[in-house]
Amino acid sequence: MNKAIVTVKNVGKVYGSHWALKDINLEIAPGEIVGFVGPNGSGKTTLIKIMAGLITPTEGIVNVPKEGLIPDSAGIGLVMESAPFAAHLSGYKNLELLAYIKNVISANEIRQAIQIVGLDPESGKKVGHYSFGMRQRLALAQAIMERPRLLLLDEPTNGLDAQAIIELRDTLKSLAKENGIAIFLASHLLTEVENVCDRVLMVKQGKIRKTFNKSDNGRAPVIVQTTDASDIEKLLIWLKAHGLTYQVLKANEVSIDIDMPVPQLVNSLVQANVNIEGIIKKAPTLEEEFISLLIKGE
Ligand code: ADP
Ligand code: MG
Repeated sequence: MNKAIVTVKNVGKVYGSHWALKDINLEIAPGEIVGFVGPNGSGKTTLIKIMAGLITPTEGIVNVPKEGLIPDSAGIGLVMESAPFAAHLSGYKNLELLAYIKNVISANEIRQAIQIVGLDPESGKKVGHYSFGMRQRLALAQAIMERPRLLLLDEPTNGLDAQAIIELRDTLKSLAKENGIAIFLASHLLTEVENVCDRVLMVKQGKIRKTFNKSDNGRAPVIVQTTDASDIEKLLIWLKAHGLTYQVLKANEVSIDIDMPVPQLVNSLVQANVNIEGIIKKAPTLEEEFISLLIKGE
């Protein structure tokens, strides 16, 4: 990974006696898009707020960029579920007003940001007449107009139609890949993050349960079916002798965590007198992992 520009270390947040987040560790490199996905109430918004500096963690350390690409600008752009804009002003006027407060952003940068999200900077249309999708785009334009190094998005596609979701995805990808912005995207819907993210963290009840990297698709458990149960015993002896981790799925089926190429594994098992009925290498899909996370109690 490129040098991380975001570090979250052992972060926890307690509300009353309830830990909304616990033991959160995370690094994000420039240009990386990381998804944070989990059921409602699992702590996603809490982490976004902590990273944005809106609330302080009960424990742990957060390092985020202090400055954007423009001197004195904000290091972080934030898109929360509902962005308050002045309804009687145009999109451009709204952003101009917000930019004026900080006085570090030029008119040109505002126009550029509006263009990037697919709105027309010259349009005089009042925000009060915007569709939901247009508002979301304007919120994104606001978040990127200071050219932040980190973009935080909380449920950004809530209420968007399919077309708008696809366009947002493309915008986020180009912001990350062309401008090197790190993006952290929280959602309760897996489908919203899986296509756009380089890495997906699955969260439940305040803890990261699984991390899924797009780049390590190669590693997958191998499922071996033996002819009958007596072969399983021989197989288990072989697995133990080789110090491999495994899980017995059925009386004649074992899932093995192994890096060895399948043909080599077959050879070795034949030599160990294990009768093999079937063998398959299959990584659980992100969706299978997510469903198992959702239904697993605890
Ligand atoms: P998510 O965004 O994943 O739906 P949240 O981060 O909003 O989850 O909430 C995580 C947990 O923290 C929930 O149990 C929620 O009720 C609780 N929580 C969030 N904010 C507060 C608060 N200000 N006071 C008390 N509890 C809170
Ligand atoms: Mg939330």
